[in-house]
Amino acid sequence: MSNHLYDALMAPQASSERCFVRQSGKPDLSFREFATLASRLANRLVEAGLLPGDRVVVQAPKTVEMVALYIATLQAGGVFLPLNTAYKRDELAYFIADATPRIVVCDGAREIEVRAVAGDGHVLTLNSDGKGTLTDGIEGMPGHFDPVPRTKNDLAALLYTSGTTGRSKGAMLTHGNLLSNARALCDLWQITSSDTLIHALPIFHTHGLFVALNTSLLAGVRLDFQTGFDLNAIFEAMSQSTMLMGVPTFYTRLLGDARLTKEATQKMRLFVSGSAPLLAETHEAFTARTGHRILERYGMTETNMITSNPFDGERRAGTVGRPIADIEVRLTDAETGKDVSQGEVGMIEVRGPNVFAGYWNMPEKTAAELRDSGFFITGDLGSLSADGYLSIVGRSKDLIITGGYNVYPKEVEDVLNDIEGVVESAVFGVPDADFGEAIIAAVVPKADAALDPKALALGVEEKLARFKHPRRYELIEALPRNTMGKVQKNLLRETYR
Ligand code: ATP
Ligand code: MG
Repeated sequence: MSNHLYDALMAPQASSERCFVRQSGKPDLSFREFATLASRLANRLVEAGLLPGDRVVVQAPKTVEMVALYIATLQAGGVFLPLNTAYKRDELAYFIADATPRIVVCDGAREIEVRAVAGDGHVLTLNSDGKGTLTDGIEGMPGHFDPVPRTKNDLAALLYTSGTTGRSKGAMLTHGNLLSNARALCDLWQITSSDTLIHALPIFHTHGLFVALNTSLLAGVRLDFQTGFDLNAIFEAMSQSTMLMGVPTFYTRLLGDARLTKEATQKMRLFVSGSAPLLAETHEAFTARTGHRILERYGMTETNMITSNPFDGERRAGTVGRPIADIEVRLTDAETGKDVSQGEVGMIEVRGPNVFAGYWNMPEKTAAELRDSGFFITGDLGSLSADGYLSIVGRSKDLIITGGYNVYPKEVEDVLNDIEGVVESAVFGVPDADFGEAIIAAVVPKADAALDPKALALGVEEKLARFKHPRRYELIEALPRNTMGKVQKNLLRETYR
């Protein structure tokens, strides 16, 4: 009997003595040692009552033990459900009530709080040092566990969306969804066992968890495991690594450091960016400093990765590249659902082995966003170039309709960002009695720039039709962002309405 994902990700490496995890201040961990830890944890989960199909909620600091818990959950036939460490008690209560997990793993420091909302879930702890009731005495558990049979249609994970546009939804991801995407990405990005990946992303989100870890396990990549983003640690790791996967803020922070040079990045072969838009300017600046072209890709919790710039071939700044193998992308008109003409903006829809099985406990939402034809309506708007590169212009929920005209925030943001003295900007709509919505621009000036709204307005008037001009310019120190670097336009809309 087989376990679709475990058999591909872990089984082939389970007896390899090669190094899997290198972490500062800790001994190296081989693939074999990691696989043994996962088997022991699988035994522990079963001892704690886990049955196939049960959810394992984990809200814990980033540790190798938490990565092993992910593999252990797959092995035991469970459904892995990691949560953002920033979530507070009431948020946790919602996720736990929604997902009804058999087991809840949390930071020991929050145990009392978590017990109060854990319902019937069996609570175990896992602290930032890897210790806790989950791992206490783990060496005494058998280091072998026969994987529970799972097919490609069984659930592997229940991953909640980031909650950027509303309440987070639980995306049901199957073994087949995750494995097909990991295979496609390894192929596309030419990931092999000669690679070392700098892993500095959180592991409660699709980027750090699936894009980074599933590909690494599948290809036998060594991890330079870092528990957060720290410039010193990244620079140190770059001299012995080949890949970095990051959100755009990683790259702007690297660019802000004088140590970023051709020499410092000489050993690296691939820099990947995603989870939020990478400004074309950041892309170009990175190339100018290092000679590397950042590879931008696009995906979401519900679908894993959808498109990617090529490994060989042109990595086009401001685009997210072409559909990944076996994935179809089409752009449709919001009203008719028909394909838009080439070059026009439309709703991004996607179909393929990567597309999730639906939203947990939300049959209406699933029915509204997953067409019978298998296409998933992403909620993102984009356009395709003649040679098939996708550009994202924003989320449909952020589209501004003012006086009956559609305004795509990105078009206005691009113009603002090009104005001397502007670091970045966010354009959004607020309710307006006359126009339906009025356009507001929040602009972050450079530290030493003396920007005034008049200069911004002039810059915009030169380039854009009148109906696209912001009504108001708000100069702010920084855009509000969540942990994945996504701009929180809902907060801006509330603040400036
Ligand atoms: P929610 O669905 O709860 O509102 P969310 O959509 O932010 O939250 P995620 O699944 O983490 O949750 O993020 C997916 C979204 O991130 C995509 O729909 C897209 O809007 C954005 N995104 C991801 N990669 C890119 C990229 N390279 N460029 C622009 N946007 C991106
Ligand atoms: Mg979303």
